Formats: sequence, structure tokens, C-alpha cells
Amino acid sequence: MQDIKELSLKELEDKLFSLGNPKYYARDIFRWIYQKGALDFNRISSLPATLREKLSAEFRITGLTLADKQVSSDRTVKFLFELVDKNRVEAVIIPAPGRVTGCISSQAGCKFACNFCASGLKGFKRNLSAGEILEQVLYLKNASGGKLTHIVFMGTGEPLDNYDNVLKAVRLINSPQGFNIGARRITISTCGIIPGIKRLQDEDLQIELSISLHSAQDKVRSRLMPVNNKYPLGELMKCCREYTAKTNRQITFEYILIRDLNADLAAAQSLAAWLKDLKLAKINLIPANAVAELKISPPGRAQINTFKTYLSKAGLTVTLRRERGQDISAACGQLRLKYEKN
Ligand code: SAH
Repeated sequence: MQDIKELSLKELEDKLFSLGNPKYYARDIFRWIYQKGALDFNRISSLPATLREKLSAEFRITGLTLADKQVSSDRTVKFLFELVDKNRVEAVIIPAPGRVTGCISSQAGCKFACNFCASGLKGFKRNLSAGEILEQVLYLKNASGGKLTHIVFMGTGEPLDNYDNVLKAVRLINSPQGFNIGARRITISTCGIIPGIKRLQDEDLQIELSISLHSAQDKVRSRLMPVNNKYPLGELMKCCREYTAKTNRQITFEYILIRDLNADLAAAQSLAAWLKDLKLAKINLIPANAVAELKISPPGRAQINTFKTYLSKAGLTVTLRRERGQDISAACGQLRLKYEKN
């Protein structure tokens, strides 16, 4: 059965026309799915019953089923979804004052095997289609009572390794006929896929870019993130400078602080040295989520503060991410991992 979310408004108009119906029904269908969260064509009361039947026979609106759900005491909710082929992906709702962020996956599994991240532990399964990315948004939107304001591609997978499907989904998330979430409220997070960042800078989309940096020393970064062997720091930073020059957009550098690995003063100095001449950069420090399988843990409060203070004094913009969902295996891929092991 075809996924209706793979169709653009224009393609749906043409499809309806070929079925002998007026094109304007396409806008109704879009409004019902993306704005009102309809998961069943029979809810779309403005369509004739015969058309609803035809659509139900030919298309599905969603193929997701919920496999597990965990609710944190801080109201973060983590979902494990099963796709039509039984692959599983995670998505999270993170409520905060004035905003509700949906964190979604772009791939089942991940190729990049960062050694602090649970997502890569079981290897790569496959890319998600644009429709499968969108139905996570649809689910989260409904689950949050329609309140979703921001989307981050920080679930399982590497979005820039599934470029076309991710961009197709981003356009629909952003489109006024789609989810109508402002581009500046959509963040793509990457482990540093240079060709993808280069393509992104030519898209003419005001979306946010996050780079998972985690170390500014090649030796350490290659150990943490094997992708650094392919796209080392020097080339990555050059690419980031080009990106900001071209787009005039700020890049956020994510930096997980991991005990005994990348959180000492020398590490902070390297980071400041790489970023000081990069205009429009922000550093987001994240105390590592402990992942038992990977033997990683966060440094102590004092070391985190020393690290942060050093960067601020060096003139960099730095924030410390509030830890959310600590009680519900919130770190990337942990809920999925629990099931993959069973
Ligand atoms: N592949 C993309 C998006 C997925 S990871 C990327 O690398 O950016 C999303 C974020 O979660 C990244 O910044 C990643 O480094 C972080 N993350 C993964 N494992 C974590 C852990 N154990 N603790 C804290 N953050 C983690």
C-alpha cells in the first residue's frame, strides 16, 4: 500500500484528478492529515464517501505502531515505534516552558558507530522514507495535543546520510500546507558529513544546523567518532566556515562531556582554539548520559563548570543543556537497544 505522505500537494492533486475528482480535495486531505492529525481517511468528512473508500484502499496515512512508551517525571516522553517491516525507531517529546520539541529518527540503526552512542551498537538497518519521518512528527504532534513547536533530527541515525528523504520531510514539516513549523524551529544534527553540509548550504532553507563535535582534538575525536577519520577536524571546520559565510546562519556545536575523555582543561583549550575565529558559533555542552553497555559517564559538576567557564572567558557563546528524561533511558538509542537485545 502506498504511503500518501510521499506525495506532494501537486502530486496528490494530479492523483485525485486522475480518479475523476476535483483537485481541491488535495488541500482538504493535507489539512486533515498535517494540521488536524487525521490517521484515517474516513475522518475527512468533506470528501465524498466513495473517494474516502478509494483512498483507504490505495493509500495508508501511517504505518507506525507503538511498541513501547516511557514517561519521565520531567514530562519527557519517549516512544519506540515499529515500522511496517518490523524495524524499530525512537522518537521523543521534550516539553519546556514555551515550547514542545519533537526529537525524531532518520534511519533505522546507524552506520557511524560513535562509541558513546547506543544507536550504532546494533549497526545500520536502513534509511527511513520521507513518509516514515513524517509519521513520527504526526504521532508526536497528536500525542502532544497538537502543541509541537520544534523538531530536531537527534533520534536514531545520521540525517545527512539519508539526505534526500530528510530534506523532502523537512520541506513538508516546514510547508504552510504541511505541519507549518518554521524553518528556524527545525534542527538537523550531524556527526559531520561534509558533502551533506555542503549540499545543505545551497538549499535556501533557514533551518538550524547542529554539529556533533564532542572533541576538538583529532586523536580523541577519531577515537570517539570513527567518522572523523573520513572527515577530520580541519576539513570539517573549513566546511563550517564556508557554511556560515554562505548562509549567515549560526552553527551549534554539540559537545558531550565524558568523564576522563574530553572534559579537561586541555580539551577546552583545543575547542576554543578551533572555534574562536568562527563567527556565529554556539557551543552546547551536554553532560554524557550514562550508557551501561558503553561504560561512559559524565564528569563531576565542578569539572563541567570549569570547562564551561573557560569557554565563556575565551569569548565563546556556550550553554549547558539541561538533562532531560534521565529516568527513562533517554540517551540516543537506549530504548531501542533494550528491545534489540531481547
Ligand atoms: N547522527 C546525528 C544525529 C543523532 S545523535 C548526530 O550525530 O548529530 C543526536 C545527539 O545525541 C548527538 O549530539 C549525539 O552525539 C548525542 N548523544 C548520543 N549519545 C549520547 C549520550 N550517551 N549522552 C549524551 N548525548 C548523546
